[in-house]
Amino acid sequence: MSESRFDVVIIGSGPAGSTTARWLAQEGISVLLLDKRQELGAPIQCSGAVSRHALEEVGVPISEEFIQEAIYGFGIYNEAGKCTKIDYRQLKPDEYGAGESQVPLGYVVDRRRFDRYLMTQAERAGVTVQLKTEGIAYQPLDDHYCSVTVRHYNQTQHIKARLVVGADGLMSQVGKWAGLRTHIRINELASCLQFVVDKVPTDGLLEIITGHEWAPGGYAWVFPKGHGYAEIGLGVIPTLTKRDAQWHLKHFMESSFFKKRFSDCRILEVQGGGVPLASPLRTQYADQMILVGDAARHVNPITGGGIHTALSGGYIAARFLTDHLKHDRPTRAADLKAYQDAWLQKLGNKMWKLYEVKTDIFREKDIPTRDKRLFQTMAGYFSPDSEYKKI
Ligand SMILES: Cc1cc2nc3c(=O)[nH]c(=O)nc-3n(C[C@H](O)[C@H](O)[C@H](O)COP(=O)(O)OP(=O)(O)OC[C@H]3O[C@@H](n4cnc5c(N)ncnc54)[C@H](O)[C@@H]3O)c2cc1C
Repeated sequence: MSESRFDVVIIGSGPAGSTTARWLAQEGISVLLLDKRQELGAPIQCSGAVSRHALEEVGVPISEEFIQEAIYGFGIYNEAGKCTKIDYRQLKPDEYGAGESQVPLGYVVDRRRFDRYLMTQAERAGVTVQLKTEGIAYQPLDDHYCSVTVRHYNQTQHIKARLVVGADGLMSQVGKWAGLRTHIRINELASCLQFVVDKVPTDGLLEIITGHEWAPGGYAWVFPKGHGYAEIGLGVIPTLTKRDAQWHLKHFMESSFFKKRFSDCRILEVQGGGVPLASPLRTQYADQMILVGDAARHVNPITGGGIHTALSGGYIAARFLTDHLKHDRPTRAADLKAYQDAWLQKLGNKMWKLYEVKTDIFREKDIPTRDKRLFQTMAGYFSPDSEYKKI
């Protein structure tokens, strides 16, 4: 690391961190983007479904480099296998499809390649990127500066910056250093497991299977992965079941209405991780610090999707910080509240509303009633006239 002074230090180079970094650097702000991993996006802990709109909105070109499969719609199933199909190739044939004048609704991306692509975009915009570098602390110094402590291999280094951005994912440590309560309660943290499989036919749709029998507190999914591969996975809320995600995935594959479809499948990879189905963090800023992406719980509480919200959250953060830093404003907590206000206005208020919808469904004690409501909510969420279409 040649310099030890930057305008902004960003901890975490997932979609949120890289997007924040790129948009800041494009405006002439000096940025150090660091990640403790030596290979971004690995091990993969994501199914990679993201809308085309989400990429276009933050200027990510649609590239073969990271796309695995094009998506044209959704199949939402109830526990017994009744399906609401929302296929945009049929609903809006002139807009969506594989033809020259048509475009897909979204994609399944390879997270390893996607994260590297975003990081490279940032680097080309002028960001200094440092992998295998762990953020370990930060300390406000005065109204305008803080000191960030990082460890690169076995060396500790202090970097002076106007501000640190915590883009360090689930249960952010950066947020904890600043005294924010980033912990997620176990009843709001879905335990997810997915298999990448061969020999499971798919047809350009994201398939979502609801029902307490298959995925208590969450849902199961079958996503196309390109080249004939698919992802079969599910997320469960541990407090709603005595079994683990592994048991439920086996049960889903062997006993559900899809068992014949899965009967020849070969498991090629096993992936897993936690997804917060919690509310956004109530306070996402502190002295010389803001949080973005999973770190701020910018995750859709109904779908568990967090790529779109990480990208847009990063963009909103960068727009705010560019203006703030260019005007040489102080970076104390009170000065950074406007970041959260901007995020709430653009995205967050809708996410809060979704959180209330989700909480209300799971407050229902009668399981068949709850299942019915979850199925209807999911089908409504993905419908063409959903008020949440762009989240
Ligand atoms: C099984 C599973 C399936 C999913 N499927 C989907 C999906 O299909 N679509 C979707 O939209 N979302 C999905 N998600 C959610 C999505 O993966 C996350 O919301 C998204 O990755 C959030 O991006 P982020 O940049 O905020 O955080 P992350 O991608 O988690 O990146 C955080 C980065 O910070 C780094 N880091 C952490 N601490 C430090 C530190 N102290 N110092 C340096 N670096 C640090 C990490 O190494 C990591 O690279 C899924 C999640 C799981 C678990």
